[in-house]
Amino acid sequence: MPDNIYTQIVGVVHVHSIYSDGSKTIEEIARIGEGAGLDFLMFTDHNTLKPLRDGHQRYHGKTAVIVGYEIEDENDENHYLAFGLDNVLERGLKAAEYVERVRQNGGLGIIAHPDEVRSAFPQYPSYPWTEWDTDGFDAMEIWNHMSAWMESLKPINMLKMAIMPRRSLRGPTQRALAKWDEISAGRRVAGVGSADVHAHAYRKGLIKLTIFPYKVQFRSIRTHLLLDRPLSDDIIEARDQIFEAIRKCRVFVSNFRWGDARGFEFYARDKDRIYPMGAEVSLSNDLVLNMISPKTSEIRLIKDGQPVMSQTGNCFEMAVQIPGIYRVELFLRKRGWIYSNHIRVGPKK
Ligand SMILES: [Zn+2]
Ligand SMILES: [Zn+2]
Repeated sequence: MPDNIYTQIVGVVHVHSIYSDGSKTIEEIARIGEGAGLDFLMFTDHNTLKPLRDGHQRYHGKTAVIVGYEIEDENDENHYLAFGLDNVLERGLKAAEYVERVRQNGGLGIIAHPDEVRSAFPQYPSYPWTEWDTDGFDAMEIWNHMSAWMESLKPINMLKMAIMPRRSLRGPTQRALAKWDEISAGRRVAGVGSADVHAHAYRKGLIKLTIFPYKVQFRSIRTHLLLDRPLSDDIIEARDQIFEAIRKCRVFVSNFRWGDARGFEFYARDKDRIYPMGAEVSLSNDLVLNMISPKTSEIRLIKDGQPVMSQTGNCFEMAVQIPGIYRVELFLRKRGWIYSNHIRVGPKK
């Protein structure tokens, strides 16, 4: 289906450059992104939109560079990725305030690393989202490479983890998925994947390593979007297409380490039409869910946060009989590979 209706694009969300604590320039990073075949990159340096004023929001080769920034509160918690603003908001706002301000300004807001837990190293505290009463955000990171990495990091495996940073990527945490399913029961909220790339240099004795080279990061957790039409050559139009796809939850997340997920499809269909991820559809006698995967994998269908079907294959079609929010998870050798967004099935009309 969607290939002829929707254009799929793939990119990486949550990238830091030398404008904050990243380690390369936007030009250098964009070139690496283009080399990795990414259609878009979403930059989020801490508390600055200087890259926007310096003209970095543009196409770098074939890769669209979108510039937002990362906000935090006074306690350095509740990190929020804000896009589409012309100027940074004043400092010292509470999470509920900046979420609202981004929304009022027509921006796109994504909750960053919502469930982060770090215990092994007191010098690296965690930065979870705590303000769950706040509403009005468009999306949340369901899988953040940096958080996943830090969570699995122990003094004993530090070196190994630094050499093989993708080892930690077994899948999103159950906590993040449960929270996402819970909020999604009430309203649409997109689940995106993110790199949170900083490419930190790490030094231990004589060993110096860049823990997260951008090149490796761009071959890990990716966010895929479905667009109504091909991505515009005009960067502002392209940006708005990306925002719209995220707001509408026309999104899936993959770990490129286990395979290229482009071409994955999950949609509902009745006798009249096709409904992509993110769609709301009423139950009817001929409503079916379809999934097509680029590779044979273990497929789990999740309804309202609970697994309701599991099988191995590269496609399925299933009649829907009960309203609920449906999504799929695909695994390769027990490792999380693809996570769809929800299709929302409402009662019969
Ligand atoms: Zn952060
Ligand atoms: Zn960050």
